[in-house]
Amino acid sequence: MARKVTKTAKVIKGSRKKVSAVNKKSATPKAKNKKVNKPTKTKKYIFVVGGVMSGVGKGVTSSSIAMLLKARGLSVTAIKIDPYINVDAGTMNPTEHGEVFVLKSGLETDQDMGNYERFLNVDLPPINYMTTGSVYQSVIQKERNLEYEGRNVEVVPDIPLDVIRRIKEAGEKSKVDVVLIEVGGTVGEYQNVLFLEAVRMMKSAEPADVAVVMVSYLPVPGSIGEMKTKPTQTAVRSLNATGVFADMIIARSSEPVDEKRKEKIARFCNVKPEHVISAPDVESIYDIPLNYEEDEMSLQMLRILDLPTRKPADLKAWKQFVSRSKRSNDVVKIAVVGKYFNSGDFVLSDVYLSVLEAIKYSAYKLGLKPEISYLSAQDFADKKNLRGLRKYDGVLVPGGFGTTGIDGKLNVIEYVRKNKIPYFGICYGMQLMVLEYVRNVLKLKDSSTEEINPNAKHLVIGVMSEQREKIANKEMGGTMRLGEYPAVLKQGSVAMKAYHNKEITERHRHRYEVNPDYIEDITAAGLIFSGTSPDGSLMEIAELSVADHPFFMGVQFHPELTARPFDPHPLFTAFVKAAYEADV
Ligand code: GLN
Repeated sequence: MARKVTKTAKVIKGSRKKVSAVNKKSATPKAKNKKVNKPTKTKKYIFVVGGVMSGVGKGVTSSSIAMLLKARGLSVTAIKIDPYINVDAGTMNPTEHGEVFVLKSGLETDQDMGNYERFLNVDLPPINYMTTGSVYQSVIQKERNLEYEGRNVEVVPDIPLDVIRRIKEAGEKSKVDVVLIEVGGTVGEYQNVLFLEAVRMMKSAEPADVAVVMVSYLPVPGSIGEMKTKPTQTAVRSLNATGVFADMIIARSSEPVDEKRKEKIARFCNVKPEHVISAPDVESIYDIPLNYEEDEMSLQMLRILDLPTRKPADLKAWKQFVSRSKRSNDVVKIAVVGKYFNSGDFVLSDVYLSVLEAIKYSAYKLGLKPEISYLSAQDFADKKNLRGLRKYDGVLVPGGFGTTGIDGKLNVIEYVRKNKIPYFGICYGMQLMVLEYVRNVLKLKDSSTEEINPNAKHLVIGVMSEQREKIANKEMGGTMRLGEYPAVLKQGSVAMKAYHNKEITERHRHRYEVNPDYIEDITAAGLIFSGTSPDGSLMEIAELSVADHPFFMGVQFHPELTARPFDPHPLFTAFVKAAYEADV
């Protein structure tokens, strides 16, 4: 039996190869006319919805399901639906919404898109992200273009229909077998009702091709010490009230879910016991897919979707990555100095999620155990606190906007430069690094970035010319310099040694730049611009030579967005290595 399955898998593999060869050919107009590029099978859609409460890891759950199906040999893409009216995530405050993840195309999206890119090791196109605002915007635009041909345009069905159009288009664009769609928010709230309506419409149109997963939470109240299933039952009932029924329940909890409770959930929530997947808290998010496989999650999902169970999931590389991440006891201590960490009495690290993951991947690659501390920039406005930085091997200042925490960040940068503590500045962290150098080495005291003090005498960091008009007209949504742009590197620089390449492309998100008027003086004072836009006009990387500092680098772009578990970012690796090796 098992052999038969393997054989089938081989045949399918062969035929898929043929299809892709045809695909290549079909790029030529002649082949296109022959219409040889017929789809071989229908696509499957998996919706992931949340029950009980938010913040239980729906994003990593979705990423894990997608990754496991990919490991089963299927091609998979992932979509995030955000319920906000904001047209994209770029206008949301990270303390409320988490990190803004910029796609290669430049679209500003939710941090879950970053999880999908990392877990699936792909670059996702902009069609894979939507918000209530973006859906309404396109429906209204179509109405203005008379595309509805005079009929009444209504919230139902026109909004869900546009959601479905986008989902289908994303599946076609990525040419995948399975499209996974994470519906933001929690069932029972008003905000995502129209998205659930889209799920209902798709499921009733193509019942065999659509699966619904509910990520629920089972509390274990301290006073009782027993895992409770009632909130899950209630959440399933609210989901059912929208006409949507779950095929699988991912049971998040502090503990594994036992058989007794699985049966109880199955009985009251209308799913099979084997479709209740235990998802206890784990040490690292990268353990999650391996944990799901203990409950045969991918097998059960293939069965729900009536897909051939083919071969078992190939998790060799993933397991190697996870075991490497746990093997080392050799610690490297990195401090991330940001302004968005404090939220009431709680510390939010999600705001810099990609930065933290990027540090980890590089540390694991080097066989090191990363110990990352989140330090609030505001605390360093008082110079007395700077001494506390001595206990770290490296300091990173991530991207940011506005005035809060600026004095603290500038003090931190001055301190690590003088004390030769390895430093990596990202975007704002690079602009402030240049400003600190101008203030304290070039001694231009009345200097600033235009973002903070447009009246300063020396605007070392100025607004990019194409941005000036946009700011004046208040065109602020999606108008920064966004997405992938090329840069060229200076021969022999620290950056070039890290990349092993002279030409690079990186993702961006900024309105300001190093003012070209100051470049000559800054360079003469010893700071090297080792990466620039190909025409030389825009400074992309600043660094001190290794003779002056073990590692002192700032980048105008966001390298964290493209760091992947199996492919750490070279600059993060260079920084973490320098931090570990530097004798501070
Ligand atoms: N605020 C700066 C700018 O707009 C830096 C942006 C960032 O760090 N992402 O240029």
